[in-house]
Amino acid sequence: MKEGIRNTLVFDMKDFRDEDFKEYEALVPSASIDLTYEEAKFIDPLSCKVTLFRQGDNNIYVTADITTTLSVECRRCINPLEVDITTTVDLLCSIGNEPSEQEEGGERYYDGETLDISEDVRQVLVLEIPAWPLCSETCKGLCPECGTELNTAECSCEITNETPVSASNPFSVLSKMLDNS
Ligand SMILES: [Zn+2]
Ligand SMILES: [Zn+2]
Repeated sequence: MKEGIRNTLVFDMKDFRDEDFKEYEALVPSASIDLTYEEAKFIDPLSCKVTLFRQGDNNIYVTADITTTLSVECRRCINPLEVDITTTVDLLCSIGNEPSEQEEGGERYYDGETLDISEDVRQVLVLEIPAWPLCSETCKGLCPECGTELNTAECSCEITNETPVSASNPFSVLSKMLDNS
């Protein structure tokens, strides 16, 4: 049984009392679950399909499919690019008190009345932020001397071997080294 699109990842278990499973759709503003970063902006909202399955009296198995788009900067040329993210959160939630030590392996506890998976979803999405986004594997980046974007223009700077390889095209540095020998 489905209900309307919601905007939160907090579920009231009163709605789920007489059912064995239930699907929810949610469009959740990323800022509402604390996903706000300077270098990686989640483009609102997070699209979530959440299914709750009852397992015995005390357990609820939760699976959430999340799709969203991230706006990041290419590490070489600093142009913005969008990264599509699709991920899944699986949790077994048991009624009880959260132990003082963080549980591993996707098992967690809730109070039997309100199930809030915001933090679980947040943690999974943080891991999806790419550490080294590139607009293209062959992006030439910016000239470290004059800042010209080398994908669209050329400059006349001499790139020396002291230039960090990551900031320039490693193949041009290599061919220069071979020319010199
Ligand atoms: Zn680039
Ligand atoms: Zn230059």
